Amino acid sequence: MAWTESFHCDVCNKAKDEATEDWWLAWTETVSGAPGDAEQRAVKLTPWNNFLAHSAEMRHLCGARCVHTMLDRWMMAKS
Ligand SMILES: [Zn+2]
Repeated sequence: MAWTESFHCDVCNKAKDEATEDWWLAWTETVSGAPGDAEQRAVKLTPWNNFLAHSAEMRHLCGARCVHTMLDRWMMAKS
């Protein structure tokens, strides 16, 4: 059974269709091994993958421009 998946860019809300390339997935992780108890957060980025895109923590990004915007927001938000 074919079902239509619908993803939207988490920055600009553009809808993804099958023809669009150059979408990206981003998520945050905590890096272990940092000195002290500080939570060392990191952003990970990977080219679009339909399987991974279903993961709850994934951010969907429609291209380099929105990746940059997401990174800018994340960098400004970190404390
Ligand atoms: Zn976008």
